[in-house]
Amino acid sequence: MRVWSLPMRTRFRGITVREGVLLPGPAGWGEWSPFLEYDPVVAEPWLRCAEEAASGDWPAPLRSVVPVNVTVPAVGPEQAHRIVRDGGCRTAKVKVAEPGQTLADDQARLEAVRDAIGPDGRVRVDANGGWDVDAAVAAIGVLDRAAGGLEYVEQPCPHVEELAAVRRAVDVPIAADESIRRVDDPYRVRDLEAADVAVLKVQPLGGVRACLRIAEDIGLPVVVSSALETSVGIAAGVALAAALPALPYACGLATVQLLERDVVTDPLLPVGGVLPVRVPTVDESLLVAGPGRVAHWRARLAEVRDVRQDRSS
Ligand SMILES: [Mg+2]
Repeated sequence: MRVWSLPMRTRFRGITVREGVLLPGPAGWGEWSPFLEYDPVVAEPWLRCAEEAASGDWPAPLRSVVPVNVTVPAVGPEQAHRIVRDGGCRTAKVKVAEPGQTLADDQARLEAVRDAIGPDGRVRVDANGGWDVDAAVAAIGVLDRAAGGLEYVEQPCPHVEELAAVRRAVDVPIAADESIRRVDDPYRVRDLEAADVAVLKVQPLGGVRACLRIAEDIGLPVVVSSALETSVGIAAGVALAAALPALPYACGLATVQLLERDVVTDPLLPVGGVLPVRVPTVDESLLVAGPGRVAHWRARLAEVRDVRQDRSS
């Protein structure tokens, strides 16, 4: 087990340092990087994803590249314009409903993004559950106009019942992200008809093959997104996106550039709006972390293995 710790370029999801582990196996390295606040039960499927990667048990790819979106944080319009222009992607995902900001801030950001991406680009927003149902319905109308048409709205409200209510009230498609975190959640999203699009992340859902099964069962188009992994973890997301029978939307896998450094010699960065389907080469000299971090991750790994032991006994 090797621990790594990497500073983030900008604060994202409330964190400034990303940390995790690479686990070795017969096929190479697998990434295990559950967020620090996650308990061992939540972190267990993340470990399955790492073990699957290290064992080389991925399905054969059906495509050689995966289209990806550029991500625009809750920044001002000038910076948003620059990020989209420099990103070189045909799809932009824009953060909205940021605490402390107003709908006018979101509107200005979306107008700038549309200007930068051009009339043929696709623009989606992610509210990270920041609205209630009424606020979502009102905001989606305003933002759909500001963006000159939205591809979809991701997680407008926190709860899956609210997603269903918003979906019934607006014409813009709804994507479920945080509502799909555990293995049972996708079925609830399906049964309540709460979304048009499912955002799947390989680590929280237990790996590439587990996600392929979920995708088949729920029958919704899938957008594969990252959990802010290094290129090693991103490769697992790419493997899923490459193996899905249909891939109608750009994926949220262009996130390595949110980290100041990586742990590979050939990072999975987008070129021309796509990521190549390949496994990057780990540079072991980059697997470093501060004092006490190895002990921390060893203890976490032991806790997760205890959870498994309890389950099987
Ligand atoms: Mg999201």
